Amino acid sequence: MTRGIQELSGIGAKAAERLSALGITTVYDLQSYFPFRYEDHSIRRIQEVDHEEKVTLSGTVHSEPELRFFRKQSSRLTVRVLVDGLLVQAIFFNQPYLKKQIELGQVISFHGKLDKNRLAVNGAKLIGKTEGQGLDPVYSLRGDIKMFMLRKWIKQSFDEFPDDIEEILPYQLMQTYKLMDRREAFYRLHFPEKEKAFLQAKRRMIYEELLLFQLKMQVFRKKQRESTHGVTKTLHKDEVQAFIASLPFPLTQAQDRVINEILEDLEGKHRMSRLLQGDVGSGKTVVAAVALYASVLAGYQGALMVPTEILAEQHVESLTELFANTPVRIGFLSGSSKTKERRETLAKLEAHEIDVLIGTHALIQEPVIFANLGLVITDEQHRFGVGQRRVLKEKGLEPDVLFMTATPIPRTLAISAFGDMDVSTIDEMPKGRKVVETHWAKQDMLPRVLTFIEKHLKKGNQAYVITPLIEESEKLDVQNAIELHQQLQMVLTDWNVGLMHGRLHATEKDEVMKQFAQNEVQVLVSTTVVEVGVNVPNATVMVIYDADRFGLAQLHQLRGRVGRGSDQAYCILLADPKSENGKERMQIMTETSNGFELSERDLELRGPGDFFGVKQSGLPELKVADIVEDYRILEIARDDATKLVKSTAFWETDDYRGIREELARQGAFLQDRLD
Ligand code: ADP
Ligand code: MG
Repeated sequence: MTRGIQELSGIGAKAAERLSALGITTVYDLQSYFPFRYEDHSIRRIQEVDHEEKVTLSGTVHSEPELRFFRKQSSRLTVRVLVDGLLVQAIFFNQPYLKKQIELGQVISFHGKLDKNRLAVNGAKLIGKTEGQGLDPVYSLRGDIKMFMLRKWIKQSFDEFPDDIEEILPYQLMQTYKLMDRREAFYRLHFPEKEKAFLQAKRRMIYEELLLFQLKMQVFRKKQRESTHGVTKTLHKDEVQAFIASLPFPLTQAQDRVINEILEDLEGKHRMSRLLQGDVGSGKTVVAAVALYASVLAGYQGALMVPTEILAEQHVESLTELFANTPVRIGFLSGSSKTKERRETLAKLEAHEIDVLIGTHALIQEPVIFANLGLVITDEQHRFGVGQRRVLKEKGLEPDVLFMTATPIPRTLAISAFGDMDVSTIDEMPKGRKVVETHWAKQDMLPRVLTFIEKHLKKGNQAYVITPLIEESEKLDVQNAIELHQQLQMVLTDWNVGLMHGRLHATEKDEVMKQFAQNEVQVLVSTTVVEVGVNVPNATVMVIYDADRFGLAQLHQLRGRVGRGSDQAYCILLADPKSENGKERMQIMTETSNGFELSERDLELRGPGDFFGVKQSGLPELKVADIVEDYRILEIARDDATKLVKSTAFWETDDYRGIREELARQGAFLQDRLD
């Protein structure tokens, strides 16, 4: 596997340097440099082909090839080929050597643009003799490497050093899934001659790639578990149950289930690293409260981190209420806390006079000292939290960690991106929730939308109006919000219209939010800052300007601000009907209210790379497999990986040496790969 590329005949220093631009330095690199796509060259009947269409034709050579040279180095080779009963001229430029290769009576296939009037293919490319290949491999190129060179070298590498490709999968897996041998699979991917073999080759390599990927995740996770000894918390289960029973509502089954999963982690001897996902409004806060309560009773402090101050305050409010009849002491740390307050809070925290600290994500970055931190919960965590984990580690803290997110992560991505975490899912809404009725309207229908808003205001409900988004410029967004706010104030004279945007001071934001929550303000004009978490159950109308400019996940988040009470809620999407991509998203929004389904469709529309930034998500760069398309194989690979990592055979026997070596080659055994 380490044979240098220059050992290949005909490759000298210069070619080697060119190849290194593609990351190819060994023969094996070359052999595993798979095509990124294939051009379909399946042979068509000439009668079905249009004039000037690019096709592959196949027929019998009917005349000796005629070679003409013109100017200095240019040549033209003409061959008459009998194709489907018609005599077609195949004209090859600058490939004089073909004269010796093409013989009378042979069956050849060639590719090019058909001139139907003259029955000629100018600038033909010879695809093959005897039988035409259906697919032509296309490689990604860089520097001054040409496709034909690469193809030639790859072919050569298989001729000269076929043994550089070794089987890495254990016999048992090869047998179970009837997988094609690795060497053959490599070859078939480069030279896809027979369709069936090509598909088998793909299947094998997809499985191999996903298995390795999952093994890396699992190995990493195992190492992480071994190196971090979480604390075994002694839970007071009866009291936790009593707390749950005292809640103002019965928990949903899903809430019950995830709470049990979390409590088991808290008790367990490994450090918890768990993702809790649940659609907007599915009731994650109360789950967090139970976890914090259990942890506090066990003698530990907890921290709850959220992305915005507004949300932090809301959590302070709801947790204060939930913990009202308990001994849990809540502390709040905000960017706008006064120095004195701040100092007091920090002192109390260090003295363990505060049990649960609530604040923004900046919380753990600050010089905050806990007396005995046992549980960290982050809410509305869209990203991995890799950064946060690192900060905690650097501080020498290894508390149990729970990430909560309302951005439902499609199953496929959850498996792959969060493979090193456990995932709990709340897949059920509290009883009696009504689906938010969603409509899509053109921007110029505003007068009707206003009438609609007023109708609901008269009933005593409230409305959000999300203002247009301009090219991600916060300044212009704010400008827009200000203008729309003025307009609406003039129209909705009987009501109080509030304004909220990112440039407001934190205390101003809080003030507006409070007014809205207390129904002193009935209409809240806002930029997307209200996106996450905010809870005003009396608000029943959500109007979103420029809805076509938002991603599905964000629209769903915004929509989730309404429908939190018992009244029927509405979401009006104002969108430009001409926006192509927008149309599809609006359609999906009106059809689906289930966040998971929506995110699956979002994933289809955008592809996994876009869903999170690839780097941030920890998604691998796969050569053959596609996480979305091949998710069934991904699931199988994940299960296999889990079993393997747990078995001793995987770590010790010869059968698994190949795969262990490959994993080592990919750096899987280095610590901290994901951290
Ligand atoms: P999210 O998952 O979006 O954070 P919240 O925790 O804010 O959702 O819950 C949304 C609303 O649903 C809150 O008002 C909360 O009190 C209520 N809620 C939570 N769980 C239940 C339940 N099991 N039954 C009824 N209402 C519930
Ligand atoms: Mg929430």
